[in-house]
Amino acid sequence: MKIAVVGTGYVGLVTGTCFAETGNTVTCVDIDQAKVDKLKSGRITIYEPGLEQLFDRNIKQGRLFFTTSLEEGIKDAKIIFLALPTPPGADGAADLKYVLKVAEDLGPLLKDYAVIVDKSTVPVGTAEKVQKKIALGAKVEFDVVSNPEFLREGVAVDDFMKPDRVVVGTNSPKARKVMEALYAPFVRQGNPIIFMDERSAELTKYAANSFLATKITFMNEIANLCELLGADVDSVRKGVGTDSRIGKRFLFPGIGYGGSCFPKDVQALAKSSEDANYEFKILTAVMDVNETQKTRLIPHIKKYFNGNLKGKTIAIWGLSFKPHTDDIREAPSLYNIDELLKEGAILKVHDPESMDNVKKVVGDKVQYSHTPYEAAQDADAIFIATEWPEFRTPDFDKLSSILKNKVIFDGRNLYDLNFMKEQGYVYYSIGREVIH
Ligand code: NAD
Repeated sequence: MKIAVVGTGYVGLVTGTCFAETGNTVTCVDIDQAKVDKLKSGRITIYEPGLEQLFDRNIKQGRLFFTTSLEEGIKDAKIIFLALPTPPGADGAADLKYVLKVAEDLGPLLKDYAVIVDKSTVPVGTAEKVQKKIALGAKVEFDVVSNPEFLREGVAVDDFMKPDRVVVGTNSPKARKVMEALYAPFVRQGNPIIFMDERSAELTKYAANSFLATKITFMNEIANLCELLGADVDSVRKGVGTDSRIGKRFLFPGIGYGGSCFPKDVQALAKSSEDANYEFKILTAVMDVNETQKTRLIPHIKKYFNGNLKGKTIAIWGLSFKPHTDDIREAPSLYNIDELLKEGAILKVHDPESMDNVKKVVGDKVQYSHTPYEAAQDADAIFIATEWPEFRTPDFDKLSSILKNKVIFDGRNLYDLNFMKEQGYVYYSIGREVIH
């Protein structure tokens, strides 16, 4: 099948590459000339485990193309995906300007029946708006389908190739058939394609992300309470997570959620609720708690240094909003960097994949280190913001010999408390005893 993907970011590039991998011919369209030039020359634009191999193979086999021209990209395409940004507007609602602009441009370019698929995360009612925009210029029949994406950055290829489920919102039997054929190779193991109306599909994505953000936030509040009551959140987590109604996943406390999805999607759902005259109280609480959780360790750091961080060197391990990605959008690390710089600390940062992206935002206000040890050299403390696997078992002997002070502020609970005691560290984590 000939497919076009409009918007070649984290979702668009994974979507395009994975559809090419199952034999389709895919053209990815983006307005970012530099991005398209890089992709055209065979260089990948994001870090996502496993993606580069599929990307190289499908380019070599002539199934994956890139262009800045919408007209060229959608030529002969039976399915056109919109994987465009939907950032929060000033009022918190998802800004649909990118999606609606492309929809309007698409109308006059359609030459034959096509299914236009909203893959972006969009508020309820967007499929109807897209339909109307396309209809302004279209002279042929078309359908607009909602097909929200559930991939997680860091495991996006796996999530896309073997999704738990595929949600498709459409009332058109013709579009349904096309979507069934497209996704057949991805649901061979019996994982379902769940068909529903467009509005329900749109809401499903927000409900899923908001539920997950709530689950993390609930556990963060339990962790905060553990600190006050002298309980251990690791034990509580295990005790709670073994209940099959609750489940083990998404129960790890830390310095809050970030990324390009949870913060904006929770905010957008709260705004949609407000517009519908419904006060979705849990969402307001989730946003409030997460805001303070991100800098939860800062008061401990200040207290440890007697309120004076001026000239103290802090090594920051991990900058991306989660491991296995170079994405730093809404990363808790950035909030902590801001706070620590305000206090006059000197920051030496290290991340395996996202330092180039951080440089674009933070510039030379911090020092960039090639390894976690380079960052820790002569530092007064280590601050852990992201749970990259390579931080889990560092060489503690080496660390102890290069740190000025054996102090770790761990926003991701990487280390065993008894082990840290044995190693002679001062160790602060989330929802657990402080080791002095
Ligand atoms: P992104 O910012 O990485 O990519 C969007 C791309 O669209 C950019 O490359 C941009 O240049 C391009 N673009 C903007 N206007 C364009 C236009 N007129 N024509 C062509 N290209 C244009 O965003 P993303 O993370 O891929 O997210 C896209 C959508 O998918 C959002 O709605 C997001 O909420 C949703 N989503 C994201 C994830 C994720 O993990 N990133 C997961 C599920 C859903």
